[in-house]
Amino acid sequence: MEDERARKPGPDQAGRSLGWVTPIRGRRTFEVIIDQLEAALLAGQLYAGARLPTERELAAALDVSRPSVREAFRVLEALGLVDVQRGPNGVSLRRESGDGFASILRLDLALGHYETDMVIELRCVLESWAFAEAARKRDPEIFARLTDLVSQMAAPDLDPQQFNELDVAFHATVVDGCGNELAAMVLRGLRAVVKRQMHEGLLGEGPWPGVHQQMLDEHRELFKVLSEGDAASVEAQVRHHIMTWGKRALDIAKAAEATAADAPPDGTAPAGSSFVAAQRAHRDLSEV
Ligand SMILES: [Zn+2]
Repeated sequence: MEDERARKPGPDQAGRSLGWVTPIRGRRTFEVIIDQLEAALLAGQLYAGARLPTERELAAALDVSRPSVREAFRVLEALGLVDVQRGPNGVSLRRESGDGFASILRLDLALGHYETDMVIELRCVLESWAFAEAARKRDPEIFARLTDLVSQMAAPDLDPQQFNELDVAFHATVVDGCGNELAAMVLRGLRAVVKRQMHEGLLGEGPWPGVHQQMLDEHRELFKVLSEGDAASVEAQVRHHIMTWGKRALDIAKAAEATAADAPPDGTAPAGSSFVAAQRAHRDLSEV
């Protein structure tokens, strides 16, 4: 694509005939297509579900090669912005969110681009709002699922990882049912890292039977105030729940970092250290 940056437009660019497309100068094809798509959508020239010009038409309009446009389509598809189909339907703008944002956020978090406390604070804001909404709506379907999850949480032989799965499902049920798909999508992006944080909090909080009982009580209480429709109480309680366990996970992560900094230069971790525990917790977790 680099060599296309210097190409000059022809005297009769097809881009003008496509309306919303203008030739590329000095930028990568997919970046330009995304910018021009956004502008066309905001101007009402395009809409969700609209079919895009063919690869050949766009290449001519943008004054780039067809492989560049093909690559741009692949990027747009990976971002969850378009559907690419063989045959006459070609490439069209997705009618519904493709969850691309959540995937990118998950990777960004996995890369460590955001601090743990940022995740906890954002989760607090969004989830406390979502729980309050759920209390106001009192959707019987959501409540039935939560009843089932809380009863599964009470099983005496659950281990921390099994409890963690139910805990994540409990919060996801409320968030996904809150009626705000944008908030739900952001929280889906946070879910893997939240799951890891909660698991580390569970592992680092003393003997499991006592922790299990405490977590079970907290979720029972959350469900109780939720089902009573007490939006203010559930908002305060879920905030406390998230901050308490998030803080524990944060303390464990900081202790692990401190221990790792003291670890021998060959990379081996001291046996029995919190670094080992943190590594084990990471390994134990599967993506959600
Ligand atoms: Zn929870």
